[in-house]
Amino acid sequence: MPAIPMDDQADLPGSYWAATAVPCPPVPDFDGSEKAETVVIGAGYTGLSAALHVAEQGRSVLVLDAHEPGWGASGRNNGQVVAALKHEPHEIEAHFGTERGAELIRVVGDGPALVFGLIERYRMDCAARRSGIITAAHSTASLSDLKRRVEIWTRRGAPLRLLSRAELEAASGTGAYAGGCLDPRGGAINPLGYARGLARALIDRGGAIRQKAHVRAIKRRSIEQGGSRWQVITERGGVDADTVIIGTNAYTGAFWPGLQKTFLPARTPQIVSQPLRDNLAKSILPDGQIMSDTRYLTVGVRLHADGRLHLGGGGGTAGAESDALYAGLAAYARLLYPQLGELQWQYRWTGFMAMTPDRYPRLFELAPGVAAALGYSGRGICTATILGRELARWATGEAGIDDLALPASTFRTLPYYPLRGLIVESAVRYHSFRDRSARKGSALPQ
Ligand SMILES: Cc1cc2nc3c(=O)[nH]c(=O)nc-3n(C[C@H](O)[C@H](O)[C@H](O)COP(=O)(O)OP(=O)(O)OC[C@H]3O[C@@H](n4cnc5c(N)ncnc54)[C@H](O)[C@@H]3O)c2cc1C
Repeated sequence: MPAIPMDDQADLPGSYWAATAVPCPPVPDFDGSEKAETVVIGAGYTGLSAALHVAEQGRSVLVLDAHEPGWGASGRNNGQVVAALKHEPHEIEAHFGTERGAELIRVVGDGPALVFGLIERYRMDCAARRSGIITAAHSTASLSDLKRRVEIWTRRGAPLRLLSRAELEAASGTGAYAGGCLDPRGGAINPLGYARGLARALIDRGGAIRQKAHVRAIKRRSIEQGGSRWQVITERGGVDADTVIIGTNAYTGAFWPGLQKTFLPARTPQIVSQPLRDNLAKSILPDGQIMSDTRYLTVGVRLHADGRLHLGGGGGTAGAESDALYAGLAAYARLLYPQLGELQWQYRWTGFMAMTPDRYPRLFELAPGVAAALGYSGRGICTATILGRELARWATGEAGIDDLALPASTFRTLPYYPLRGLIVESAVRYHSFRDRSARKGSALPQ
């Protein structure tokens, strides 16, 4: 049986982010004596953004996490701040309808402005760089898709630009791709630094965070005047709340019946090299952009200010960490940058993504007063920040669940969830084969 995400080690992994992020603000352990109108479960981007936006309304809010803020995917990801879901704008309109789809595209397009805006407003120290995101095409067919993406966004007033093969090579330092596009709205952050920045901002705004608060259940509790409140229960005691927001994403356990079965958890790797020699570092992403590609098993590439090459993604498992997971990514680095020779990878770690079958995130009203956002499918920096803000609007009564930017989803568990290990492994094998066989027009080997 594959590992359950919450069974991962209790400490942060020894990542490049853990080595370089600003320290976490002091967060007391939960002792069961706290009170709040809104209780948020999970101190990643979803939970912290929700709590910060509730606190900005002057309302009382308490975040509970089993670990420290940013312990989950928010402290482990590639740091790509992308103005997009995993879908092209025309697909989003087809999925959600023209009106709701157009609104969602607009909100997602403004995602980087929200993230970088919060970073600026609260003076977060998280190596934020809004220098754009390059998407590299792994085939001529995907270059045509990018062309369509650029046309659609240009009509919507976003300044995307198509890159020829030569332009892509000059901008990224690799001649492996067929071309690409540049989206200047996006950028890069130190993701753990951003999570810690949100935590600090929340505390400054009067919100509270407690760690070592592993939520085991959420129970309805009748109150004397009639009506009900919710009790969030941990082994260190409970806390009552009018509203409960769940932001536990891939690390969701069994505390709400069926919630963990609404997505498949997939562990994906990140590797960071020793600093490159100056002349080599200068040729890689020289304008400070960050790069991802059009493969289904997307690989993210960035170069850090200290000259280290960083790759993430490209494969996954629902099971335990393994050398093979990292070896695949190191091999891909050699394909992209053969000029670097054999690299020493100094940091390596993994984190769990919550993959939904259609790769759209989910917003659930689980009961009156209890809501969750999750299933970001690897695109969560902007989306989780946005949905956290949206859930804050719901929790403070500013908007109903049906008035939020993402239409609320029907709660459905995946019937094949018990086979998740097998399904994730098979999906990775299948998409890896498809990505490889679709490389026509790029210099990547078939
Ligand atoms: C390796 C990797 C690379 C990625 N790269 C990118 C990228 O470049 N760009 C991008 O946009 N997205 C990326 N993502 C996705 C993004 O990181 C996530 O979508 C996002 O961080 C999810 O945030 P979250 O707050 O919902 O969940 P998380 O950050 O995972 O936080 C969940 C929190 O809930 C807590 N928790 C869980 N259960 C309980 C419980 N019962 N009681 C108390 N606490 C609990 C956990 O301790 C954890 O702190 C990547 C993800 C991974 C794994």
